[in-house]
Amino acid sequence: MSVTQQAEPVLRLVMTEEERALRETVFSLTAAFGPAYYEKANREKRSPVELWSALADGGFLGVHLPEEYGGGGMGLQELTAVLEETGAAGVPLLGLLVSPGIIGTILSRHGTQEQKDKWLRRIADGSMKFSFGLTEPNAGSNSHNLETTAVRQGDTYVVNGQKYYISGVDECDLICLVVRTGRSANGRGELTLLMVDPNAPGLTRQPIETVLEEPEKQFTLFFDNVEVPAENRVGEEGKGLRVAFDGLNPERILSAAVSLGVARYALDKATKYARDRKVWSTPIGAHQAIAHPLAEAKVKYDLARFAMQRAAALYDAGLDAGEASNIAKLAAAEAGVFCLDRAIQTHGGNGVAREYQLANYWFLARLQLIAPVSREMILNFISEHTLNLPRSY
Ligand SMILES: Cc1cc2nc3c(=O)[nH]c(=O)nc-3n(C[C@H](O)[C@H](O)[C@H](O)COP(=O)(O)OP(=O)(O)OC[C@H]3O[C@@H](n4cnc5c(N)ncnc54)[C@H](O)[C@@H]3O)c2cc1C
Repeated sequence: MSVTQQAEPVLRLVMTEEERALRETVFSLTAAFGPAYYEKANREKRSPVELWSALADGGFLGVHLPEEYGGGGMGLQELTAVLEETGAAGVPLLGLLVSPGIIGTILSRHGTQEQKDKWLRRIADGSMKFSFGLTEPNAGSNSHNLETTAVRQGDTYVVNGQKYYISGVDECDLICLVVRTGRSANGRGELTLLMVDPNAPGLTRQPIETVLEEPEKQFTLFFDNVEVPAENRVGEEGKGLRVAFDGLNPERILSAAVSLGVARYALDKATKYARDRKVWSTPIGAHQAIAHPLAEAKVKYDLARFAMQRAAALYDAGLDAGEASNIAKLAAAEAGVFCLDRAIQTHGGNGVAREYQLANYWFLARLQLIAPVSREMILNFISEHTLNLPRSY
């Protein structure tokens, strides 16, 4: 159905046969690559392109995109399943979150016919990748502070400014850039989305070194009179915040799927280890000090997954998913960190051994409490919008 229609959300509490089949297929496809492949790609600082192609060939990158543009015609619920399964099989794919996730959904809802023909189809078949450029040095959590500007001159926008912490620019075909094109009466930035060629004259980039073990690199971008064709604008000029939020709620829901994939991966390894490892007369899993934290981890995982499914169902129905996406994102990020931490503890010294492939996911799991939106900004959202409490900032 069209996303502009509002429907009763379909929240499946019991997995359908189709969802089970989708999950099993993606899990076994990814498991054939597995954690060793992921670690090697990270060590070599290259993207897991072989897995990306295999997912594209199977039609999994575009499960949520319209069939007329080569997608699977399903919803975000199915994309969360794909993302969670890749993580559970040891290859969490943050790239899936941005290109098919944020940009695919933005284009489906706001792209012109021509833009959909040109770009959406190629997101679905995996032949084009997009980055998303929102954050700036002086506008992290506060997007209203964006200072990167675009000025319309005839058929072109001229962009000046700086973006910070933008992922995957070295391997993308276009950057979906959020820029300021004006200011409203109350001083807030009027935002616009432009698709920018990463190799356009006047655009330079500088890598940001991080301790993350994941394949995507992050960059600071400098825009010095970068020209962007006006036909590359997505949505109306000055209405970009609304357009961006149609991609940012999916990003939160998909970030939850990344966390839950890592949570399941960790929990699965921990329970196997706890059943086998014996240092006294019984396996360590018989000690409640080991078993209860793992049981608690399972409870946190399940609750966060329900929260994620609710958020995705609301989004798919075209209903307001803001609060539910924030709740899902935070619950899943905390579950991911908890499950991985308990799994590392269960492994004792082996928890940090490369061979056991656990601690190398630590920073990725921990990152989900910071980006794409921080724990504090989620709590701010719920305080203000749900609980109607005054804001401090
Ligand atoms: C690995 C990585 C990849 C990223 N990829 C992208 C990308 O592809 N595209 C993109 O646009 N961005 C990207 N980001 C940026 C990310 O979205 C931001 O880091 C995040 O939104 C937080 O902004 P900030 O880092 O500027 O923190 P700040 O906004 O400076 O916040 C710092 C701290 O203060 C807290 N804080 C700030 N304001 C308040 C408040 N009002 N109340 C309470 N606490 C507050 C925050 O929660 C945080 O803990 C990425 C970041 C990382 C680390």
